Amino acid sequence: MLLPPHKDPMGTAIADYHRTGRAGTLRVFSSQFDEDEIPVEQLFRTFTEMPPIEQQALTLSTGRILDVGAGSGCHALALQEMGKEVTAIDISELSVEVMQERGVKDARAIDLYDERFTEQYDTILLLMNGSGIIGNIEGMERFFLRMKLLLKPGGCIYMDSSDLKYLFEEEDGSFLIDIADDYYGLVDFRMQYKQVKGESFDWLYIDFDTLAYYAEQYGFTAEMVCEGEHYDYLARLGCK
Ligand code: SAH
Repeated sequence: MLLPPHKDPMGTAIADYHRTGRAGTLRVFSSQFDEDEIPVEQLFRTFTEMPPIEQQALTLSTGRILDVGAGSGCHALALQEMGKEVTAIDISELSVEVMQERGVKDARAIDLYDERFTEQYDTILLLMNGSGIIGNIEGMERFFLRMKLLLKPGGCIYMDSSDLKYLFEEEDGSFLIDIADDYYGLVDFRMQYKQVKGESFDWLYIDFDTLAYYAEQYGFTAEMVCEGEHYDYLARLGCK
């Protein structure tokens, strides 16, 4: 489902920043954490401002590339500058307009899970905790079935995520995780920008081993490409 402007705080923030060069606070709420904010200018990062794991994902992308949840189009624009061919999709109508205005040649308002979308790609990118779009553990099957359909034979996915176990670290360095609970990387978020309030949504952070386990279940290989500075990493998933 697409996000109309009145329910789209992040898209509103992106549009504001694009039009005026500045934006207010993009507030993030979660039942698990204290209130936080996303610095809107970070959503407009250039290649040199990106963390190494994102730079790596862009460098490794080949052929026809699909950038899923492309936001302001920062990765799509960097790929175009590298001479690569990219389609950028997002459920945010406002973000897609901004991407088009910023020069992303093929930016479309499409939900990854919309079955009418059936084009195939050599590389699929999901960046900025891209695993979030899986939603929760139950979302794995739907996600990998979609990926299978959208990938050309021999194609692969580059996705980044973080292992949230550090949130459960004790003073002695051990980790206290209640295994009877939901998977510890499952987070619920709600965003607000000015008067625009979004709905609450599930956003999955996943450690590499758990991701690799599910990838295998649904016929994908999983490789760790590189690790970031703080429990974050880039994974490459290939269809077997
Ligand atoms: N990749 C961008 C933005 C990350 S925020 C960056 O790194 O800066 C996540 C983005 O995913 C948001 O723009 C949100 O609108 C989009 N999104 C969430 N669910 C989606 C879905 N099902 N299909 C396509 N885009 C989605």
